[in-house]
Amino acid sequence: MCKACAVIVAGGKGKRINAGINKQFIEINGKPIIYYTLKAFQRHEDIKSIVLVAAPEEVEYCKTEIVQKYEFKKVTYIVPGGAERRDSVFNGLKAVESSEIVLIHDGARPFVNSDVITQGIKFASLYGASSCSVSPKDTIKVRDENGFSKETLNRNSLACLQTPQCFKYDIIYKCHEKIQGLQNDFTDDTSVVEYFGHHVYLYSGDYRNIKITTPEDLLVAKSLLEED
Ligand code: C5P
Repeated sequence: MCKACAVIVAGGKGKRINAGINKQFIEINGKPIIYYTLKAFQRHEDIKSIVLVAAPEEVEYCKTEIVQKYEFKKVTYIVPGGAERRDSVFNGLKAVESSEIVLIHDGARPFVNSDVITQGIKFASLYGASSCSVSPKDTIKVRDENGFSKETLNRNSLACLQTPQCFKYDIIYKCHEKIQGLQNDFTDDTSVVEYFGHHVYLYSGDYRNIKITTPEDLLVAKSLLEED
């Protein structure tokens, strides 16, 4: 298996959690969320380096209080993020030093497991682009402009995408380069490569790999950690 680089984006404001600080610095069981995320990649044998993307005013804090303090030796660069997630990803990609495969992961997903990382690298090597995903647990509907249900989607064909999303570096870098200046609302990186016609292989992720977004996610995160 080839060695890969991980780009971990932690440059968002996390407004939906209402914590007054970047959500990635909120502590669970005495350690910041971003600590658990970095640990998962640091200890994976196929990850050779990590680029951490932080808000410009938090780069120094990440350096001293996270990377140096917890000795994340695989972190080669800490780069400033941008206004939107896609800008942060592109800044991270620019800092990657020659790697055939790159994994892009949300800093706010601390429960990514080793198997999900291994599979992502494998399927990106095979198909050029891959993402872990889980099946929706709820019925998903399309709502009309008046708030009424318009259509029920077939759950068997739906996938809730998570990260890591994994790519051959050349593919994802070129696609991000080409969307510079486009106004489209790309909410993840698979949408960026799909926009240019690339196929993305969706493999089975893990329901525990939650993105900490709203306050109740913190309660779930705490219980997931206690279970370990
Ligand atoms: O806001 P959301 O939770 O969807 O963000 C997903 C991930 O992208 C988070 O880890 C967040 O820190 C990161 N992000 C970023 N730069 C931005 C916006 C979000 O690095 N401008």
